[in-house]
Amino acid sequence: MNNCWTSDWLARRGLPHQDACPFCDQHEETISHMLIECVLAREVWAKVFTAMGVPHGAPHVGEPLPDWCARQDTHGRPARTMRTLCLLVMWELWKHRNAIVFDGATVSLQQIMHRIASESKVWRQAELLRGELDAFFVEALEWARRE
Ligand SMILES: [Zn+2]
Repeated sequence: MNNCWTSDWLARRGLPHQDACPFCDQHEETISHMLIECVLAREVWAKVFTAMGVPHGAPHVGEPLPDWCARQDTHGRPARTMRTLCLLVMWELWKHRNAIVFDGATVSLQQIMHRIASESKVWRQAELLRGELDAFFVEALEWARRE
């Protein structure tokens, strides 16, 4: 719904905001940029979709966020599994962005991958994340080890 408090949203309302995306420091921060277009987000998605065995599922350059979300039903996996995993990754990107903006954290692909690995394990235990995900969790275990 484009209601997240990203820089473009804050600027439209005359509120204090950072000048650029906290991940890359090169583009205006919109929700689409932060979640799928930014070079950091693209690296995260590439790792996640490669682990899922669907590398073509990662966002394409210039692909609008709603179109990309709709496309997640087409990978031959249960739509619920793909949507849940995408929500988890977006949630971790958002939390990492907030840690940078509000807590002075530094940009870290490794930290995001570590958080995705640990959070996905918890979501699976809570049965929020279901389906055939063995290959994903083998790769996630590697992300968790690399911190
Ligand atoms: Zn960026």
